[in-house]
Amino acid sequence: NSQKIGFIGLGRMGLPMMTNLLRSGWQVHVFDTSADACSAAQALGAIVEQSVQAVADSAETVMLSLPTPAIVESVLSQLVNGKQVSRVIDLSTIGIRAARRAQEIVSKHDIHWIEAPVSGGVTGASAGTLTLMVSCPAVLREAIEPVLRALGTVMYAGEAPGLAQAAKLANNMLSAAALVASSEAISMAVKAGVEPTALLGIINSSSGRNTATTHKIPNEVLSRRFQVGFANKLSHKDVTLCIEEAASMGIPMPVSVAIREMLAITTATFGDNADISDVARVLEQWSGI
Ligand code: NAD
Repeated sequence: NSQKIGFIGLGRMGLPMMTNLLRSGWQVHVFDTSADACSAAQALGAIVEQSVQAVADSAETVMLSLPTPAIVESVLSQLVNGKQVSRVIDLSTIGIRAARRAQEIVSKHDIHWIEAPVSGGVTGASAGTLTLMVSCPAVLREAIEPVLRALGTVMYAGEAPGLAQAAKLANNMLSAAALVASSEAISMAVKAGVEPTALLGIINSSSGRNTATTHKIPNEVLSRRFQVGFANKLSHKDVTLCIEEAASMGIPMPVSVAIREMLAITTATFGDNADISDVARVLEQWSGI
């Protein structure tokens, strides 16, 4: 396999995903605004381009792994002028309406829009075991599956633009809710005197078990490492998108609103670079444990 692929956004998720493409034999043309990210990719064997458009001049399929909807839109406005690009696979979490707008922008230039937001974190990105939530016209599936399978398991959310994003926002709201709620519940029991490891053992063989109690809290909070590798700021973006998309459909989301508030407090307390697991430290401070 010596086919070319473009990859823009070499961050916590992008760099390990790009690495798996190299391992599967793709020739990867990359760009990131961070020079450090580009050097890291070059050291792994990628071809570094000097701009978004240069990537789109080099490869038919271009993948994006970018932080926010606004950044995806700005990158797309440069990418559509590329000479080779005919497909964009967006791995970022940008929400339903931004994905629909993106599809409209690229389709004016005869470029196909494939939505493929991912779940599984930095660990899943490195291991090639992500869940890829995909929406695109069914006729494109055969062409894109080889590249997507290098990153993990492909699961279809439907054909229309926005559907994979809707599934992704639902998942991420639940994932954030599990972490916030678990941190709150655990702070109560630990303050009362239960030893944390014993408590997690009890919860994990009982009905409160979830991805925070089985993984994030034992691995990153009890170890005092606080490095899940998912920025608190990005989780706040996801929950905000979830609330905004729901509001546009007339659905109130009181639980999501409370979660967003906790994530905002975490940023206010631990700064812009806080990890999602820092939310547990807010509860620790409040309870004095
Ligand atoms: P990150 O901030 O670590 O990486 C983003 C990268 O994009 C950075 O290297 C940055 O320099 C680059 N970038 C920013 N603006 C750019 C531009 N205009 N042109 C080119 N490159 C630019 O973010 P991440 O954690 O890798 O997340 C990427 C996406 O994946 C986000 O949408 C996030 O919500 C989603 N996601 C993250 C995780 C996770 O666990 N970290 C899990 C699933 C999904």
